[in-house]
Order: sequence, then C-alpha cells, then structure tokens
Amino acid sequence: MRVGVLGGGQLGRMLALAGAPLGISTIHLDPAQDACAGQVAPVLVGRYDDPALVAELSRQVDVVTVELEQVPLGAFDHVREGVPARPPAAAVEVTQDRLLEKRLFRELGIPAPRFHAVDGPDDVKAAVEALGLPLLLKTRDGGYDGKGQLLVRDPAALAGAWDELGGRLLIAEEVVSFEREVSVVAVRGLDGETRAYPLVENLHAGGILRVTRAPAETDATLAADAERYAARILDRLGHVGVLAVELFDAGGQLLANEIAPRVHNSGHWTIEGAETSQFENHLRAICGLPLGSTALVRPSAMVNLIGDVPPAADVLAIPGARLHLYGKAPRPGRKLGHVTVTAPDEGTLLRRLASVRALVRIADGAA
Ligand code: AMP
Repeated sequence: MRVGVLGGGQLGRMLALAGAPLGISTIHLDPAQDACAGQVAPVLVGRYDDPALVAELSRQVDVVTVELEQVPLGAFDHVREGVPARPPAAAVEVTQDRLLEKRLFRELGIPAPRFHAVDGPDDVKAAVEALGLPLLLKTRDGGYDGKGQLLVRDPAALAGAWDELGGRLLIAEEVVSFEREVSVVAVRGLDGETRAYPLVENLHAGGILRVTRAPAETDATLAADAERYAARILDRLGHVGVLAVELFDAGGQLLANEIAPRVHNSGHWTIEGAETSQFENHLRAICGLPLGSTALVRPSAMVNLIGDVPPAADVLAIPGARLHLYGKAPRPGRKLGHVTVTAPDEGTLLRRLASVRALVRIADGAA
C-alpha cells in the first residue's frame, strides 16, 4: 500500500518509519523545502491545497491522510476520485474550530468547560455576563500550543481583547481549575472498531507539551470515561485512524479541552511502551488492516526535546531510554526530538525519568 500524507513534519516522518516493516510506504506533501519526513520518504513541496500537487500526490497512492489538523480543507477537494481520505475532511473540519469542538462535546454528552461564542467586540461583554471573570479568550481557528489565547482577569482588559487577538472569531471559556492535564489517544478502524490507549498524564510549559507519563495514575472510572468519550467522538465523526482528546482532570471529573484528528505528541511513548505504536495503528486503520493491541507493555514516559538536544551518548547511557531525533535544525521552541524511557515498574521509571529530565532544559519553571 502507498499512503499520501498531507504534512511532512515529525509526525509524518514517524508514520513513514512505522510503515516500512509493514510494506506500507508514504509520500508527503509539505510547503517546507526541508520537511523532516523528506529524510525518510519522498516529499512533494508546495501548498497543501495546490490542486495540481494534491492530484499528483493522490495519483501515486491508495489512501490520503493528514499529519496536522490545520490543513486547508480545500486540499481534500483535489484528492482524485476513488482515493479515500482517512480521516475524512468533515472530521478534520470540526477539529480546526474550537467552537465546533465544544459543540460536539455538548452534543455527545462529554463534559467540557462552559463556553460562549464571541463573533465580535460586543460579544465579549455577553461572554463575561454568561461565564464571569476570569475567562479565557481563544481564537476559534489556528490556535495550537497555547497560541492565540488571552486570559482576561478584569473588566478593564475587556475593551482591547478583541483587537489583541487580531479581530478573529473567538470562543470564550470559563477558566477551569484542574489538577492536571491528561489525554487519550484512540484509533478507529475502517470497520468501525475502536480501541484506546491507556489514559496518560501530560505536563506543559510555555504552552508546549514537555512530558507525558503512561499510564496516568488514575482510578479505573476516569480511564473508562476517557475511553468512552474518545469512542463517541470517533464514531460521530466517522473518523478512520488515530485521534487524540486532551482533557482536564478537575476534581475527579474529566473535562474535554480539544481534539487532534491525527497521531499525537502524547502518544509517542507507544513506540516502545505499547503493544502497537500509534503510528502503526494509524496506518493499519487507514489501510483497512486489523487494528493492533493498544495495551501498555511497560510503564513509560516521554520527554520532548525542544530548542536543543542533549548529547546522544548521555541519553543512551540511561537504562531504558530511547532517543528519537527528527532531523530538524535547532531553533528556540522547536520540537527537535523526544526521549522515551520505559521501566519494569513505576519506581524505576521515576528514577530514570529524573535522569532524562536532568539532561533536558525544561523552561518556565516546569522542571
Ligand atoms: P489549548 O490550546 O486549548 O490546549 O490551551 C493551552 C493550555 O491552556 C492548556 O494546555 C491548559 O493548560 C490551558 N487552558 C486551556 N483552556 C483552559 C481552560 N478553559 N481553563 C483553564 N486552563 C485552560
């Protein structure tokens, strides 16, 4: 099978690497001349919605998929007839818009922070009346890794809020006080079967994921809730492939924050820590193959390498540590790779994780 991937970043690269042993090859489309998937698979360079390029990509493949959610939806229109897009455009569309996501949560009975649509400066006041202060204003589109957000604490800040976020359509959300952030990565096969990986706990700093621990320390009820929510979303969207749901754990209740219609940074640990990696399961799903087990093999943790990379020898000297470099040029704030560490038990994992974290500068006081 040949898979066309819209996007040639690290997620695309790891999809390519996972496909090789299965006899599945990938071809990518990416605007960047030096997209890092290009070191392991062919890349067509150009705009995601360039009609000729998308047609060219889909001419060479059996199925088209995405490795990022901010793909112009027009790209899907140029996929050749008879070549399926998995996930479908409609599933990607919902995840590009925070308001559509929140409405989906409500429709599916999935608890989420209270919200209010803000379509213009006047709506900011209405949102405050509905939700109170403080509140979080987020752009409906284009926001990721904490960008496009404004915390409004007092009425004086309201007047400039709309302009500050660039006059874009917004969503206002109540500010939830949560204990921690968790996520569930799940997959839906072509036949509609869904499977979820164990719930994981995520630590962010500066709006970027830094550390994931798998499994999250939690009771069975929360984990089962997360799995049920993910399955509902996958089914409702008619999704095929991997999807991630980020949630807040607030007082023993999960509140859904957002959805990513693709393999996810909080699922990287599955390469070493689960029976089947998220990358392999995504490919299995979109190629119509049986899904693999999502069971955890060993307690695992993942540490992102952001901005710079410690010496490989230092990482590899830590028992159970595996290094994944993405072949990207260093730049502040850029995800350059990750380290996964596994261990036979939780205590050993925590010690090994501390050794990895000692090698990695984690900004914003999160170390
Ligand atoms: P997001 O881009 O929606 O993932 O938000 C980035 C980060 O802002 C999240 O990881 C949370 O730490 C925080 N955040 C987002 N929404 C809320 C909310 N409604 N209440 C409190 N914190 C939030």
